[in-house]
This record gives sequence, structure tokens and C-alpha cells, in this order.
Amino acid sequence: MTEPLFLKPVFHEKIWGGRHLETDFGYDIPAGTIGECWAISGHPHGPNLIENGEYAGQLLPDVYAQHPEVFGNPKSKVFPLLTKILDANASLSVQVHPDDAYAEEHEHELGKTECWYVIHADEGAYLTYGHTAKTRDELRNLVDNHEWDKLFSKKQVKTGDFVYVPSGTIHALNKGIVVLETQQSSDTTYRIYDYDRVDQKTGKKRDLHLKQSIDVTNVPFQEPVLHSTSTKVGDSTVTTLITQPDSPFFSVYKWQVNGQLTREHEHGPYTLISIIDGQGTLTANNKTYDLTKGTHLIIPADIDSWTLDGQMLVIASESAE
Ligand code: ZN
Repeated sequence: MTEPLFLKPVFHEKIWGGRHLETDFGYDIPAGTIGECWAISGHPHGPNLIENGEYAGQLLPDVYAQHPEVFGNPKSKVFPLLTKILDANASLSVQVHPDDAYAEEHEHELGKTECWYVIHADEGAYLTYGHTAKTRDELRNLVDNHEWDKLFSKKQVKTGDFVYVPSGTIHALNKGIVVLETQQSSDTTYRIYDYDRVDQKTGKKRDLHLKQSIDVTNVPFQEPVLHSTSTKVGDSTVTTLITQPDSPFFSVYKWQVNGQLTREHEHGPYTLISIIDGQGTLTANNKTYDLTKGTHLIIPADIDSWTLDGQMLVIASESAE
């Protein structure tokens, strides 16, 4: 029997980042503006080390490649999901991600559909989300003329919201928002607009990718309709935030754990788990592990069911593959 795989987060400095990963999550982060915690990652730009069990000290992507049975012998050649916590202390670049076909052809990696559970939003915080162009020509014109206010749409968000961002959606997190992001394992971002900011480290503006952005943006923008469902399990609440067919790549769940809650894999052979508030324990195969805010782990395929106990807010996900 495989043990749950507890993962060591990887941190990335970003010009828009802040210090919430230290002050809210208690992580020991590097100095500077830290924007991203890569919490469950097999991506080469920030793979996680496994901290416990027979694979302790090994990288998640290596174990995924060498021991596919741990993951239920999945189809995907690469670990398909990436879980991050993002701390937006300033606006991120307004960006768009390609779908699988475009990303495979141009970037040799997966496309990027992502979604956000809003851990915290300041009063009045908003996303850049969607656009107003009705045709690709109109999109191109507005981009060429730098008519950003006319082009980009905004969406107010509050703590606890869930936002789905399919590939081809123009989007950005803005100041005062912390999210748990579940996405396809991809690091391809096409920037449309970056506020003409100069990166202090390099003394240069970050690259824009206008041609690719215009190529991959869905026109016209259509806001996805979500069908989340909640059920009471004892004193806990189990919510499916998104699953197939609304999201072809992953299912994402919110578990408000209050006391004991037993779960099983639902829509995939293994399950990614992030504790985003509270603390408690996990019992699997008669072994009990401590969980606290900021803990991230994977329940392998050969653990059929597991029990959480405590007061915790959990975001979990499963790959559709
Ligand atoms: Zn993005």
C-alpha cells in the first residue's frame, strides 16, 4: 500500500506578488515579492519533492513516470494537473492561455484551462475576465489601438467565489486577491497587456505575445455556466465546484470538514488535496497524519477511502484522464 504523498511547495517570485504566503499560510518563503506557491506540481518549472513514505526525497514527476500504478496507470504522459496558491498584491498581466492543440503545436506542452477558488478577496476586488470584441477583427483593432479599457471586461469577486477560466479566456487576477488555482500542468501564458510595467530585476518590460493572444482568444467571450452541487455529509459539507462535462480536464471539490468526513476517489483514479484553512488529521490505511492550513498531498490510487477529521476547508481535485 502506498502512503499519501505529502509535497514540499515551491515558491516563485513575481513582480505582482506579496507576502501572504508567509503571513497567512506560515510558509518559509524567500525574500521579495512572492506571487506563487506551486503546491502540487509535476511541471519542470517547479516540481515538488515528496516528503514522506517510500518515495521521500523523490520528485513527483519522477515517481509519476516510474510508478504509474501509484496513479492508477493513467493515460497522460505527464502529471496532468498543477495546484498553486497565488497572492496578487498588484495586477497580473492581462493574459490568455492556449488550448491543447495550439500549445502542442507551438509550445510542446499542454494547453491551460484553469480555475480559481478565492481564498481571500479585499472589499471591491475584481478580476479582469472576458472581453467585449464581437469578432476577431474587432479584437485585433482594439489591441492594435491599445484600447484596453474598452476591450477588457471586469468581474467582481469575493472570498469563497469559484471562477472557471477555460483556455482562450482573457483574464487577470488583480490586487487584493489570493486564490487556490487548479489548472492543467502548463506554463504557457500569452500576455496582452502588462500595464507598461518595468521589472525591477531586469530593468525591462516583460514580453507581450499579441499575435498568439489574438490567435487563441475565444471570440466572442461567453461566460461559462457552472453547475456546482452541495451535499451535507454528517456535519460536513461536500461541494462539487466543477466536473465533467463542464470541465473536460478536471473535477474540483470543496470540503468544509466539521468532525469526521470519509471520502473516496470520485471522477479520477487519484485525488489532490489542499488544506486552505483550519487543521485536523487524515487517516488512511490505519495510519494517521496531521494536516494544517497549507498542507498539500495526493491520495494514491490504491487508497480506496480515507477519513478527514477536524475543522478544515479543503480544496480537492482529480484529473479527468
Ligand atoms: Zn492565467
